[in-house]
Amino acid sequence: MNVYDSARMADVLAPIGYGPTDDPADADMVIINTCHIREKAAEKTYSELGRLRQLQERKAARGGRMLLAVAGCVAQAEGAEILARAPFVDMVFGPQAYHRLPELVARVHRGRAGGGVLDTDFPAVTKFDELPAARPAPGPTAFLTVQEGCDKFCTFCVVPYTRGAEYGRPPEAVLAEAQALVDQGVMEITLLGQNVNAYHGTAADGRSWSLAALVGALAEIDGLARIRYTTSHPRDMSADLLAAHRDCGKLMPYLHLPAQAGSDRVLQAMNRRYSAAEYLEAVADLRAARPDIALSGDFIVGFPGESDADFEATLALVRAAGYAQAYSFKYSRRPGTPAAELPDQVPEDVKAERLDALQELLNHQQATFNRGMEGRTLPVLLERQGRQAGQLLGRSPYMQAVHVDAGPERLGRIAEVEITAGLANSLAGRLAATTADAAA
Ligand code: SAH
Ligand code: SF4
Repeated sequence: MNVYDSARMADVLAPIGYGPTDDPADADMVIINTCHIREKAAEKTYSELGRLRQLQERKAARGGRMLLAVAGCVAQAEGAEILARAPFVDMVFGPQAYHRLPELVARVHRGRAGGGVLDTDFPAVTKFDELPAARPAPGPTAFLTVQEGCDKFCTFCVVPYTRGAEYGRPPEAVLAEAQALVDQGVMEITLLGQNVNAYHGTAADGRSWSLAALVGALAEIDGLARIRYTTSHPRDMSADLLAAHRDCGKLMPYLHLPAQAGSDRVLQAMNRRYSAAEYLEAVADLRAARPDIALSGDFIVGFPGESDADFEATLALVRAAGYAQAYSFKYSRRPGTPAAELPDQVPEDVKAERLDALQELLNHQQATFNRGMEGRTLPVLLERQGRQAGQLLGRSPYMQAVHVDAGPERLGRIAEVEITAGLANSLAGRLAATTADAAA
């Protein structure tokens, strides 16, 4: 979501003369778009600011000026503290305020005797209504935010506080943005939301659209070959969405469905509102609809009160579900969330041990899944140059990174690729003998 937001910040800055640069030392403005989800991510903000301050001073010594800005959820949660700790920062603004960037830049230029400017309001008019409708496509694949915020209030999570209440964009706006991307050659769109499968957007005629309805309408767009969505909540895998996985060929066979934990006691303390059995049921329904679906997930180890037996239940859930890939984290105590106040915080060394054990299992599952692709021929969307000359990097339908020996003329197209090696984190392959480009 931050990648999407950063691109939109670039869009609103373009009309006032800013364009991207690869060299921060020479930049007229540097925006750090921050994440507050775990302490480690949030702390990076301050170390990064320390480094940028030196660039800012060097530029000033050459007679130039570099504006420094902090955006995103750390800005939202700790705005005033950032300005106090780092007074050289010119602008601090939250994820709901970046459409006002031109105004903030103007305020900074008018003089900043009172220190940096702060904008962490949740405006009545959503930023989506203010952002330019068309935007430059980033390449053959693009993210598209359709929903923001969250009303679920899992007890460990800052998102409902930093991103605010759940809001679904009107379907017409989503379809227009998608069409504009496809017109520029985008072949794959990933719909984004914190609980994107709970998406409901109100159309101009007053009807409410589900995510499945949105996927169906997007699938009608000629030239759009692949549709994905992330992140989903296990409670919101509705029947129409399962049907879309069964019936819509453009909807890719990959789903990120965070479980977080496998112990019902912990799931309840997390306020996830499903049991391990219900999670596994959702996975079974999904596989009934789309047998080859690749499953991904998120896990937290060391939630307050998690016992050895609770952790074993997480391992058992992972074994039962079977993941193609997954993300796993040590529980991070976030100020202002209910879980931060719970007794029985788990010691760091126990969290580290559990994370190792979980990741060993998940890595094994991922390696097995990837090895299973050897000898198969998969349609791969070739997205960019590989690290080596004569190599392109693409994605399989199952989200695996695929290195392919192919010339640059194939960039931005889908090619049939024969998989020669299934490695720990990626696949390697060669263009299939027929070299006929697949339609999807
Ligand atoms: N909306 C998604 C998750 C968004 S946050 C969902 O409900 O599944 C992305 C991931 O960060 C979460 O799935 C969780 O695994 C992790 N996460 C969130 N808060 C965390 C915390 N306090 N400590 C550790 N991991 C956390
Ligand atoms: Fe956070 Fe996801 Fe829970 Fe919402 S549903 S509170 S974003 S973990």
